[in-house]
Amino acid sequence: HASRDSNETSPARKDDSSVHGLSETIVGVLGGGQLGRMLCQAASQLAIKVMVLDPLENCPASALSYHHMVGSFDDSATVQEFAKRCGVLTVEIEHVDVATMEKLEQQGVDCQPKASTIRIIQDKYLQKVHFCRHGIPLPEFMEVNDLESAWRAGKQFGYPLMVKSKRLAYDGRGNAVAKSEEELSSAITALGGFDRGLYVEKWAPFVKELAVIVVRGRDKSILCYPVVETIHKENICHIVKAPAAVPWKISELATDVAHKAVSSLEGAGIFAVELFWTNNGQILLNEVAPRPHNSGHHTIESCYTSQFEQHMRAVVGLPLGDPSMKTPAAIMYNLLGEAEGERGFYLAHQLIGKALSIPGATVHWYDKPEMRQQRKMGHITIVGSSMGLVESHLNSLLKEDSSDCQ
Ligand code: ATP
Ligand code: MG
Ligand code: MG
Repeated sequence: HASRDSNETSPARKDDSSVHGLSETIVGVLGGGQLGRMLCQAASQLAIKVMVLDPLENCPASALSYHHMVGSFDDSATVQEFAKRCGVLTVEIEHVDVATMEKLEQQGVDCQPKASTIRIIQDKYLQKVHFCRHGIPLPEFMEVNDLESAWRAGKQFGYPLMVKSKRLAYDGRGNAVAKSEEELSSAITALGGFDRGLYVEKWAPFVKELAVIVVRGRDKSILCYPVVETIHKENICHIVKAPAAVPWKISELATDVAHKAVSSLEGAGIFAVELFWTNNGQILLNEVAPRPHNSGHHTIESCYTSQFEQHMRAVVGLPLGDPSMKTPAAIMYNLLGEAEGERGFYLAHQLIGKALSIPGATVHWYDKPEMRQQRKMGHITIVGSSMGLVESHLNSLLKEDSSDCQ
């Protein structure tokens, strides 16, 4: 194919995978957000070339990628054109055109993880059905198509009841809590009504939310990162503590559930398994992401192999790295947009300025062109000799002082 020929402006697909000893494969990433950006950072260390497909000209990954194709990862012709130029196709977001990925796979394009995995994950209801069939413990759930079926679900599961949209969910956008039967219809309306495709979940009375980053290599070998605790605020990940302070048995159970969940999916790469540790000692699966994840950002500073490097190694078929922690404790704090526009940038930059002088702290700024309320703009990871120490550093960072008030 002419389009696969190498030239200056069009990076070509290359299947020879060891010219400089690592990998000559061009990795194509659908999506160029912060996850794509951090994938590019990790890839550069191994001299792996990353191409990203993202509609935003100045998306976070753009400046760091080998090549940025401006276009939609949800458009068939664009994804096909993009795939021609890559040796392996992967994702940093699950809301991609999966039908096209399936078609490309049939034509021999190497997708990691497999399109079948993306299809299952991108519909959260289908995902629940899949994991339920594989014997993974999860909160009870039910599809709802009209108010009557929602009422019935409420009667069966009780309140509060979690209403979720099946598709295009992220950062809690797509979730609504009904505290009582009276609130059910407004929760459904808030999500855009039944046409959006909804299901409900029984409330999980969790003690802590946990997450396990799992990697699977092309040879199907699986490694799990240490269990972390994730703390959400209004459905958005706020803080991650690594390792999670949980009894050894709980950490073992969480790792087992995560391992089993990922084993039921196909393809290589990083997977993130979100879990609930309930007040009766159960571990329930919340959802799985088929890509690097916010709960694994701490691994950049705290583990021998970061989730981003690990994803690159996995998809191109290099040996997997050591997922264990090289520091006793790490805490990650998300920099979420606190205000729109300039004011938001000002507030974030104030905090970054302070973080730069905190021992053990590393600042990550995603360089998103627009600041919005509650948007993930960056993160700060603090590593140290104990959780007590890194927590006290974070507390001193977040402590209001007069210089912050303007
Ligand atoms: P993400 O950004 O992780 O993809 P999402 O939009 O897909 O988020 P969920 O992971 O379904 O949303 O839910 C977000 C948060 O809402 C969870 O981390 C948890 O705090 C809370 N939550 C979700 N489901 C339940 C439940 N069944 N019971 C109690 N809390 C829940
Ligand atoms: Mg999700
Ligand atoms: Mg989630």
